[in-house]
Amino acid sequence: MWRKRSLLRLAMLSTFALVAVYYTTSQLHTIKKYRNRRKVGSVPPWAPVILVNELQYVGTAPEDDEDVFARHAFNLRSSNELPSDRSLPDTRHARCRDVEYGAAPLQTTSVVVAFHNEDRSALLRTVVSVLNRTPPDLIEEVILVDDRSDDEQDGSLLSSLPKVRVVRNQAREGLIRSRILGALEARGDFLMFLDSHCEVNVGWLEPLLDRVTQNALTVVSPVIDVIDMDTFQYRASSPQLKGGFDWSLYFKWLPLSHEERTRRGSPMEPFLSPAIAGGLFLISRDWFQRLGMFDSGLRIWGAENLEISLKSWLCGGNVEVVPCSRVGHVFRKTHPYTFPGGNADTYLRNTKRVAEVWLGDHKRFFYEAQPNARALDAGSLQEQLEVKSQLDCRPFQWYLENVFPELKLPNEENSAFGQLKQGSQCLQSEVESSGVKLAECNESELSQHSWAFNVHTASIQHGKLCLSVRNKLNLVLETCTQSYQQEWSRHGRAVVLLSSGQCLESGIRSELRLSECRRGAMSQQWDFTVELQAQDDHPVNIT
Ligand code: UDP
Ligand code: MN
Repeated sequence: MWRKRSLLRLAMLSTFALVAVYYTTSQLHTIKKYRNRRKVGSVPPWAPVILVNELQYVGTAPEDDEDVFARHAFNLRSSNELPSDRSLPDTRHARCRDVEYGAAPLQTTSVVVAFHNEDRSALLRTVVSVLNRTPPDLIEEVILVDDRSDDEQDGSLLSSLPKVRVVRNQAREGLIRSRILGALEARGDFLMFLDSHCEVNVGWLEPLLDRVTQNALTVVSPVIDVIDMDTFQYRASSPQLKGGFDWSLYFKWLPLSHEERTRRGSPMEPFLSPAIAGGLFLISRDWFQRLGMFDSGLRIWGAENLEISLKSWLCGGNVEVVPCSRVGHVFRKTHPYTFPGGNADTYLRNTKRVAEVWLGDHKRFFYEAQPNARALDAGSLQEQLEVKSQLDCRPFQWYLENVFPELKLPNEENSAFGQLKQGSQCLQSEVESSGVKLAECNESELSQHSWAFNVHTASIQHGKLCLSVRNKLNLVLETCTQSYQQEWSRHGRAVVLLSSGQCLESGIRSELRLSECRRGAMSQQWDFTVELQAQDDHPVNIT
């Protein structure tokens, strides 16, 4: 009996030992295999993290009558109801799962998340998704920069999570300076910037690292999937869009050109992009520092994505989007936080800094699109200009020709545009009467801007309307018809109605009229703010 029992025990023990040995070796084997060849998307061999008192940290659900969008401009209840480690649909192209990334060199990434009054559940999910979906040996740390949130504990309670470091600003610095502070704290070889309401998806980091290890001067962005601001449902974004902007320096998405699509071959291949969309990108810490980081003169929010993109392109690097890397972000319609300097002015001032430093002569197109920017004081640009000359950066014209040919000069048929001036007086439209008059030039008076001389149709345009002669003497703005009442030519500084040979003239009471052309008459001399072609300086039909 005793023997039988001990035999049984021995058999059980040895089976257990065998299973344990097998389990350990196979685990080691998996980890080893994983270390050497990173095939991303399989079950991670590292232990998931949890915040011990998650429920306590996140707090109670919003009251029934609470406006769930009020505090964060996304649905607070939806966010609160989700666990921090929810699973996500794998939105990558199916073949991304089979890519094996070469053994990563022993280089690590510091993830930098700046936040100001972020919803706790969204912030926690951002951090937990990083810790649980990234091989630990690739992550140096997650640096949370608390940009002076009202409640210090939003950040500090997360410092118990592995690898998480929290730094708190003494005063509100804004997104850009907060990220700079995070970068200065960072010890990793690479920096990955994330917003505080993101979720990284399976295998997100390896494909990004793969690109920067091949070219250390690359700024890489994942494809940014959409976390619905109401339902928090996670949806795939198109992996075929690149980032660009218009002359107002507003970001916009652009489809890849037909040529770019065919050249790519595979939908999984990274592609070049004129700009990154915003806050989510990876860059080598060294390249970021050499580029002067972000311009620390940028305030609160905005334009830093264009700044870093332009810098990287113009100063010897590039910008790429990597479709096999997916990160979700809650896109929302408004900013839920205050802008101490006013929302619109802050963005305008930030874009003005970028235009002044990086657009060269082309900045005049920016001012044409954003006339109110002229009068703003953008502060000193000294440091940025120094970076530009130290790195011997290329002119914006090169970028237009080689990187962003889609950014056309505003109507190439226009030989001149801007304000149409006579001395300190500007031509101004009057909406009600559809008339025009002269008034003292005023940068912020929009009815004085957007005049253009279109050489193709020989018309003087103001927005969509054309300067037209009614009843042979009244000057009005009408729909463009290309009729003889709207055909003008410019001779020197004179503006001549082609059909009659008469000149546009200002009268004593600042009214506009047509009269015989007289050489040298000041009342017949007109200038546009921007002249793209030299004027024919031989007046004709002048008595
Ligand atoms: N942010 C910050 N300080 C600020 C404004 C914003 O730290 O003064 C953070 C914000 O919490 C978020 C990131 O910067 O993590 C980007 O802001 P937001 O999500 O509002 O920008 P969007 O995604 O709309 O471009
Ligand atoms: Mn955001």
